[in-house]
Amino acid sequence: MTDLRAEAKVDISADVIKALSNAATTALPYETGGLLIGWRDGENVVVRAWIQLGTPNPRTNRFDIDAKKATKVLKHHLRMTSNPLEGYVGAWHTHPALAPPSGTDIETFGASAAATSAPLAFVVLATDGFASTAHIAWAGRSGDRVMIRTQKTITVERTKSE
Ligand SMILES: [Zn+2]
Repeated sequence: MTDLRAEAKVDISADVIKALSNAATTALPYETGGLLIGWRDGENVVVRAWIQLGTPNPRTNRFDIDAKKATKVLKHHLRMTSNPLEGYVGAWHTHPALAPPSGTDIETFGASAAATSAPLAFVVLATDGFASTAHIAWAGRSGDRVMIRTQKTITVERTKSE
């Protein structure tokens, strides 16, 4: 049986990766995160913008999204954007070390994807302040199962500031 979702991917622009890397570095030693904005192209998730959500209690080992605040900020963004296709397509957060998505992260991706019929993108941007690695995952429902596919990692090299 062919499953179209097996071929689905996250299409994320280099500009977004670079911007998330900068946000991750700025937030050190804490984690930060927010929403991914874009649209779906069939089963593919196209990411073209991002929203950072602040937190009153920054932590070094987790980042929780305040759903109420996220909804408010998202509505504001969608009112301001000139692209009518744009909508919420996933979430991102940072790791203040070169650590890949944790078991908890994967569970969170799965729970988010299980709660919606459309596929989602997830990005974990890990940085030690010099090098950054973007871990990109696609998650979507296939019948009553949730598929999570780790797509690729992109390393963003940073130059030391003098
Ligand atoms: Zn994480």
